[in-house]
Amino acid sequence: MKKKVVIIGAGLAGSLLGIYLARKNFQVELFERRPDMRKVDIGGGRSINLALSARGLHALSETGLVERILHIAIAMRGRMIHPVQGEVFFQRYGRDDSEVIYAVSRAELNKALMTAAEKHKNLHITFNTRCTGMNLQTGEVMVVNEETGEESVVQPKTVLGADGSASAIRNAMVEHGVSRFTLDYLDYGYKELTIPPGPNGRHQMEKNALHIWPRTTYMLIALPNLDGSFTCTFFFPHKGEMSFECLDTPEKVRSFFSEHFPDAVPLMPDFVQEFFDHPTGHMVTVKGLPWHVEDKVLLLGDAAHAIVPFFGQGMNCAFEDCSHLNALIERQMSYGRSPEKVRWDEVFVEFEKRKKDTDAIADLAVENFVEMRDYVAQEKFQLKKKVERVLADAYPGLFVPKYTMVTFRRIPYSIALERGAIQERILDELCANITTPDQLDLRKADLLISKHLDYIE
Ligand code: FAD
Repeated sequence: MKKKVVIIGAGLAGSLLGIYLARKNFQVELFERRPDMRKVDIGGGRSINLALSARGLHALSETGLVERILHIAIAMRGRMIHPVQGEVFFQRYGRDDSEVIYAVSRAELNKALMTAAEKHKNLHITFNTRCTGMNLQTGEVMVVNEETGEESVVQPKTVLGADGSASAIRNAMVEHGVSRFTLDYLDYGYKELTIPPGPNGRHQMEKNALHIWPRTTYMLIALPNLDGSFTCTFFFPHKGEMSFECLDTPEKVRSFFSEHFPDAVPLMPDFVQEFFDHPTGHMVTVKGLPWHVEDKVLLLGDAAHAIVPFFGQGMNCAFEDCSHLNALIERQMSYGRSPEKVRWDEVFVEFEKRKKDTDAIADLAVENFVEMRDYVAQEKFQLKKKVERVLADAYPGLFVPKYTMVTFRRIPYSIALERGAIQERILDELCANITTPDQLDLRKADLLISKHLDYIE
């Protein structure tokens, strides 16, 4: 075992990282708490489908998996906005159909990654095995078999903690006093509901869009699934006057949804039952340091930096972690080092510099919550989006919309945050006294952009 790299968690990041390392001839062992989801329906997992975008796609293409995954994904070109009254309308995400995001089933994606991982003879996944702690002096990891209760201790070469937002490895680092983390729970929870397929298995709404019902302080969203259904997620405060706490009878739930989501209700025959059957999910931002201890252990993915889901970036960021870690290892191996000789401590120190970017996407994700639930429906916001598009077309590589930087490019998140704020101020100034994009003062735009922005691509 001492020769092996142990990954805790065969979720999205753990499985993908296993593939990267196996391709580099490392001996890899993954320990996964849950049973093998390809054999057992484990249901009840968090968020049924996810939005996959450039950063995630890049990592999948580096590992030769992108086509396989796109085969099970649905392109979403933009947001379809459902006001309480009035017509549904569409806001494109990118400049054209080359800039789209993809809805993919979390379970199918995870299964595909596990299967691709297990194709490597030097990689093994042990299921039903939960990590219960780690001795940071010796580097030993404690695990327990979830079926038999049998406990054992493993002594790997190094440990990569990809065990999600409630990470046991992170807890061990905090308990040993080597790391400090904050877990910031959002006051909002979420509930997953279903819009089943229509007749002949057809989608009952526009298939190639992410649907949003923005209602200022709460919202419903829906992502398409391959079987013709949509998975809806209802984001709502946990407590207060309008909250999950108050929606405590079937009548109240039915009447609330009928009043606020009138066009969604006829499409969701079982939503009241689902509302009470499905758990209310929590959302947390995890921030802290260090992510590593010497050459013994490194945290990545949600274990190091969980974020709220409103930019659709948690998985994409976790996949980017895998790609980045792989590049750092590659750099060492390019000096002729074999897998056994990789200086993990040096790799981990370099990797940790990524924290400024993961902190940035954490902040961008919180910002985007306000944008999705509130601003998208406002006329001023729609005008700014149109002007933003005009500027993006007129100043390519100079004025790149924030959404584009985060979702369709791999520009470091910290730069996207910084430039996004500058561009927002420029947009506010240019849109202050106009009502349509053709009233835009192009000379002023030119002056502001050349003064405040430089080329990034
Ligand atoms: P996880 O996917 O949580 O995987 C952790 C794995 O470790 C799991 O398999 C778990 O069983 C295992 N494990 C846990 N503890 C142990 C233990 N002690 N021992 C052994 N194994 C263990 N991201 C996007 O990019 N796009 C989206 O659209 C998006 N939507 C989201 C919607 C919601 C409602 C939520 C909650 C999240 C969303 N995310 C999205 C975020 C995304 O789900 C996470 O960022 C991503 O799953 C992180 O991957 P991970 O591998 O780090 O953690």
